[in-house]
Amino acid sequence: MAKRAYKERFYPTPEQALLLAKSFGCARFVWNNTLAYRTEAYQQHGQSVSHSAAEKRLVVLKAEYPWLGDVSSVILQQTLRDQKAAFDNFFNPKLKARYPRFKRKDSRQSIRLTKAAFRYRDGEITIAKSKVPLPIRWSRPLPCAPSSITISQDHAGRYFISCLCEFTPKVLPVTPKMTGIDLGLTDLFITSEGVKSGNPRHLKRHEARLAHLQRQLAKKQKGSNNRNKLRRKVARLYAKIADCRRDAIHKATRTLVNENQVLCVESLNITGMVKNRSLAKAISDAGWGEFVRQLEYKAEWAGRQLVKVSQWLPSSKTCHGCGHKVEKLPLSQRRWHCEGCGQAIDRDINAAKNIRTAGLAGLACGATGAGAVA
Ligand SMILES: [Zn+2]
Repeated sequence: MAKRAYKERFYPTPEQALLLAKSFGCARFVWNNTLAYRTEAYQQHGQSVSHSAAEKRLVVLKAEYPWLGDVSSVILQQTLRDQKAAFDNFFNPKLKARYPRFKRKDSRQSIRLTKAAFRYRDGEITIAKSKVPLPIRWSRPLPCAPSSITISQDHAGRYFISCLCEFTPKVLPVTPKMTGIDLGLTDLFITSEGVKSGNPRHLKRHEARLAHLQRQLAKKQKGSNNRNKLRRKVARLYAKIADCRRDAIHKATRTLVNENQVLCVESLNITGMVKNRSLAKAISDAGWGEFVRQLEYKAEWAGRQLVKVSQWLPSSKTCHGCGHKVEKLPLSQRRWHCEGCGQAIDRDINAAKNIRTAGLAGLACGATGAGAVA
């Protein structure tokens, strides 16, 4: 059994919108209040507040702020569990997660509901304290009753529901093909077989418009009506771009997993790379992290093998043909002439070939698909 999230858009009734606004607000309050308490306890007394202590404190909070009772208590308890998970991640040296942050009113809002806080019947979902089902625009039916749901509202004011369902993945028939994948800037990905994906063209047009709107926004007076209108416009366009991008990545990863038995990619240090400012925009645009994440779960479901190759492999600077290595290769140089064997090499295809070789070598010496091959 695997778990899969089904995300759909929905359009709440005015009563539901009010209930959700309250729920977002209460969950945010509990998160921020508890986070402040934990931070202070640690900074002033060096103490860490356990999950059960935070749960006991929630009872006190609810007595002190009776309006917290307006929303399902399951949501507030889940908020504490999510915060515990955020701290667990922070203290896990493998994850390098950031210290949990305060939630802001003007960023994306979300609440998580476990089975006790919603009802699933006849393909409809009704949340606690609401009388009518959520008007969800289903793009496909759920395979089973969800074990939990997440309701969110994005910057553009749109509502989404994400339903977590258990299902049995369909393993694909074995194929002999194995590929190396280099993640690029001009192209989303390049394979060792020389396939270049390109970047979706419509994205570029949307992005040019976004840049234009953002320049206009900078000129508008703070707090003015026009600025608020424009701000919403920017948020809507931004959401559209994110949708397009996710869609393109879904298609690409689906094709790659369908066609190949073994997929080799570089393990990426996204946080390290985004600090490099000149690359930052391009990288987040291309959505590399999302790309690898999708490859990972799709490969697992399909019975394919994903091999992550160390990011320190000099995949671009080593000639795939003869192993000759150059000291420096500026990003602008798309092709280079190998001094070792004399062949002209396409930078990205060469890198993809090296990634494939390193990945297969790692597999041969027993490295598993999940781990990095050094
Ligand atoms: Zn060479």
